[in-house]
Formats: sequence, structure tokens, C-alpha cells
Amino acid sequence: MMLSCREVTRDLTLEAELPLGRYRRLQIGLHMLICRHCRRHKAQLEQLRHVLQTVNTLEAEGIAAMPAEAKARIRNRLPS
Ligand SMILES: [Zn+2]
Repeated sequence: MMLSCREVTRDLTLEAELPLGRYRRLQIGLHMLICRHCRRHKAQLEQLRHVLQTVNTLEAEGIAAMPAEAKARIRNRLPS
């Protein structure tokens, strides 16, 4: 059975904390093949996570500091 966009979106959001089973990943993969909305959503989530990771790395190395307020703004755009 095909997953709905809502189910895919929810699972992608939870994936960071809750690893998905093999069958679920397969179902999501199939959905991604036919649904460009979910593909775009996934790319955006990954981009945001990547930005936060980069900022954290730069800060850990003392190279740059981002205002806490700006970080909170980015984090708020990630559904949690
Ligand atoms: Zn979809």
C-alpha cells in the first residue's frame, strides 16, 4: 500500500530520533519515486540540518559564532 504524503513527511521528520525499519524505508523510497513534493521536502530538511551542523562545527572550532537567536530561528523551521 502506498504511503500518503503526510505519513512520509512525519516519518522523515522523526527519522533523526527514531530509525525507520527496512520495510518502512522501502515504502518511503517508493513514494519518493513518484512524489516530487516529498522529494523537495526531504531535500529542504537535509539542507537545514546541514546548515546547523556546519554552524556547530565552526563554533566548536572557535572559527565563528552565530547568535543564539539566529540558531533558534533555523531550528524552529525544522519540525520536531
Ligand atoms: Zn508525497
